[in-house]
Amino acid sequence: MQVTHFDVESLRKDFPLLNISQGKNPYVYFDNGATSQKPQVVIDRLKQYYDQENANVHRGVHQLSQISTDNFEESRRIVRRFLNAEYDHEIIFTAGTTNGINLVATSFGTMLSEGDEILISELEHHSNIVPWQMLAHDKNLVLKYIPINNKGEWILDDISDLITDKTKLIAVSHVSNSLGTINPVEKIIEEGKKFGAKILVDGAQAIQHFKVDVQKLDCDFYVFSGHKVFGPTGTGILYGKESVLNAMPPYQGGGDMIKTVSMSGTVYNELPHKFEAGTPNIAGVIGLGVAIEWFMSIDTEAVAAHENDLLVYAHEKLSEIEGIKIYGTSDKKCSLISFLVGDLHPYDVGTLLNQQGVAVRTGHHCTQPVMEYYGIPGTIRASFSLYNTKEEVDYFIKALKRAIRMLS
Ligand code: PLP
Repeated sequence: MQVTHFDVESLRKDFPLLNISQGKNPYVYFDNGATSQKPQVVIDRLKQYYDQENANVHRGVHQLSQISTDNFEESRRIVRRFLNAEYDHEIIFTAGTTNGINLVATSFGTMLSEGDEILISELEHHSNIVPWQMLAHDKNLVLKYIPINNKGEWILDDISDLITDKTKLIAVSHVSNSLGTINPVEKIIEEGKKFGAKILVDGAQAIQHFKVDVQKLDCDFYVFSGHKVFGPTGTGILYGKESVLNAMPPYQGGGDMIKTVSMSGTVYNELPHKFEAGTPNIAGVIGLGVAIEWFMSIDTEAVAAHENDLLVYAHEKLSEIEGIKIYGTSDKKCSLISFLVGDLHPYDVGTLLNQQGVAVRTGHHCTQPVMEYYGIPGTIRASFSLYNTKEEVDYFIKALKRAIRMLS
């Protein structure tokens, strides 16, 4: 699909970091899967907070505390609209995707008993594997994995073996961070619901690429990181359905998550505060609200079409290079490409790309089971965002060819 109404050049002007160069070379940032760059409005908002508004939230009657609290809670409303959640209090601020998944594993995990089953997939980021392995180990639960095929897609042929009446939780990624596959989460949610399983979707690689509507998806939890959607690091969102969050015990004890504390015990606060113990990342949360508002002001369909153009173009150009093998060849893919060149080590290729001003990621991308499946130590991953261009892809291809010549 050709994008006609998406002005990438003017959008790039919003991002100061995209204008840096490396010596004579432009700087091409293709590591968006790891973190996104930040628009000027977000950077300015963080400064404004510390310059003019810094005060703790929810605790003071004084003016600054009230301003901070209002702005902090405004971010919650923005995120609710962004995800189309039903209530503001279904939005829990976390430190990121990892933190959100660990919150669910720890809190929801207390409600599981020996023999209960958790289903994840072989495509998951370590953040969506290790917390469940730890929980399964502690509580004698059974952890099952959806297998994958050579294209990097889930194999759901034996779904009736994978999801049974013992399945209490399914935790799966919306988009694979190492292969880019857009997973059929709708199908797994539908199947899980038949058995009353709760479903967590890890949206860390989805939320910055296409519209997510948690009510339409009908998942129980949706988690993502602020820094991957143009917001500050150390911020994240756990969306949870009100009834599910209400049934869960608190995650951490401390200030803000209580109503009353006496020597004999504690009455816990209501949602969302029940899950937000201690002073939060106030500036970060306010910055995240601004990042999401900025992102919502851009036509999501145009973003998806532009990123898909980049993906198709980069696929085409890469495929012309002798010895290239692309990992993750599903028809449903987000804008990232994992590949290897003959038997060249990904780290060597990444280093030579870096010397020419191209930032890609090399390694296992925190998905060692995926690498194990393909029998490789890692890949080179180029991941694109809405501000990347075809000219940058051309430069990347030129730099890659040069790196290959130097290494061969
Ligand atoms: N899940 C996926 C799919 C990811 O891509 C990542 C990060 O790359 C994470 C989880 C962990 O995110 P964070 O390190 O921001 O907590």
